[in-house]
Amino acid sequence: MKRLIFDEDHDMFRDSVRKFMQAEVGPHVERWREQGICDKDAFLKAGEQGLLCMWADEKYGGLGIQDFRFEQILIEETMRHGDLALFLTLHSRLVGPYIGHLGSEALKQRLLPKCISGETILGVAMTESGAGSDLAGIKSRAARDGDDWIVNGSKTYISNGINGGAFVVAARTVPEKSHGIGLFVVEEGMEGFSRGRNLSKMGLKAQDTAELFFENVRVPAENVLGDPERGFYSLMHFLAEERLISACQAVAHGQIAFDITMDYILERKAFGRPIAAFQNSRFKMAEMRTALDVTQTFIDQCVMMHLDGELSADVAAEAKYYATEVESRVMDECVQLHGGAGYMSEYRISHMFTDARVSRIYAGSTEIMKEIIARSIGLDERKLMS
Ligand SMILES: Cc1cc2nc3c(=O)[nH]c(=O)nc-3n(C[C@H](O)[C@H](O)[C@H](O)COP(=O)(O)OP(=O)(O)OC[C@H]3O[C@@H](n4cnc5c(N)ncnc54)[C@H](O)[C@@H]3O)c2cc1C
Repeated sequence: MKRLIFDEDHDMFRDSVRKFMQAEVGPHVERWREQGICDKDAFLKAGEQGLLCMWADEKYGGLGIQDFRFEQILIEETMRHGDLALFLTLHSRLVGPYIGHLGSEALKQRLLPKCISGETILGVAMTESGAGSDLAGIKSRAARDGDDWIVNGSKTYISNGINGGAFVVAARTVPEKSHGIGLFVVEEGMEGFSRGRNLSKMGLKAQDTAELFFENVRVPAENVLGDPERGFYSLMHFLAEERLISACQAVAHGQIAFDITMDYILERKAFGRPIAAFQNSRFKMAEMRTALDVTQTFIDQCVMMHLDGELSADVAAEAKYYATEVESRVMDECVQLHGGAGYMSEYRISHMFTDARVSRIYAGSTEIMKEIIARSIGLDERKLMS
C-alpha cells in the first residue's frame, strides 16, 4: 500500500540508508550473530554516514534533524537489511535524547560529539533482577557526596551492555518515595563500574545484552540528568516516542517477513503446485497483508501526530501493543508457510521468529500497555476498586 507520509527528501534518504545497510551491515549480520555481538566499528561507520543522533544540534556535530520520519526510515531499513543486529535506534533515539534534553552543558559538549561519531555507544540501564515492569521497585541507590553522587547496585538485560561506553542508569535517590529516582550517566572507566558476561538469548543473537554492576561508583554532578529526585517523571517524558519506535520496528519486521514468505511460497512446490496456490496460503497472505497495512497506517498516523507534538503516551501504547502482537502473529504464520525450512537456522525467517518474541516483553510488555490503555479510557483498577 502506498504510504502517504513521505516526500522526496525522505525517499532520497531511504535510498542512501539502504545502500549503507546493504554494504556495511547486511554482509556481517551472520558473523555478528555467531559471535553474539556486532563489531563496534559498525557504529563508527554509521557515524561517518551521519546516521547517529541525527536530532542533535549542529554545535555538537549533529544534523539537527527533528523530523521523526527520518528515524522511522532508518529503523525500517535497519530491520530490512540488518535484522536489528546493529541497535542504532537504542543508541541514537532511545538513550541519546536523555543526554540531549536533560544533560548539563558540560556533559553534552564532552559526550554528544562522541555519540554522533559512534566512538561512544550508549545504553540505558533501568531493569534489575527484582524490578522490570515495576520500575518503582528498583533497589540501586545513589547517595549525594558533596557535588558528586555515589551509585551502588546492579542492572540486568542491558542492551549494548558489552559494547556500550556510557549508560543512563536509574537509581533510587529518595528511599522513602517509590518514585524518588534519579538518572545518572555512568561511563566506561569509572572506578567501581563493571559488566558481567554477554547473556545468552533465544533471539537477537547479534545484540549484546549484559548485566552491569556499580560498586561505589562516583558520578560527577555534570553526569546527573535533570532533577535527581524526579527521574521517574523524566522517563515519562520520553515514553510516547519509545513506544512509537517499538511499533515502527515491529511493523517493519512483519513487512519483511511477509515479503520473504511471498518469495518462498511462490518458489516452493508441493502436490505439483506452488505452496502459494493453496487456498490456505492465499488466505493467510491476504490476512497478513491486511493486518500489516492497517497497522502501518495507524503507526504512520501516530508518527504525524508525534511530529505535531500530539502523540500521547497512551495512544503510543496502543501502537506498541498492537504492532508487536501483529508482528508475532505474522512471524508465526510465516514460519508455518515455510514448513520445516522455517525452523532451520539457515532460513532468515527462523531468526526473525525468535527475534520478534521479545517485542511483546521489552520496552513495556503487552500487559503493561493494556493497563495504560485501560486507564486512559477510565478503567483504572485503583479507582474502580476504591
Ligand atoms: C533482549 C532484552 C533486552 C533488554 N534491554 C533492556 C535495556 O537495554 N535496558 C533495560 O533497562 N531493560 C532492558 N530489558 C528489560 C526489559 O525491559 C524487561 O524485561 C521488561 O520490562 C519486563 O520486565 P521483567 O523481565 O522484569 O518482567 P516482569 O516485570 O517480571 O513481568 C513478568 C510478566 O508479568 C507481567 N506483568 C508484570 N506486571 C504486570 C501487571 N501490572 N499487570 C499484568 N501483568 C503484569 C508482564 O507483562 C510479564 O508478562 C531487556 C530485556 C530483554 C529480554
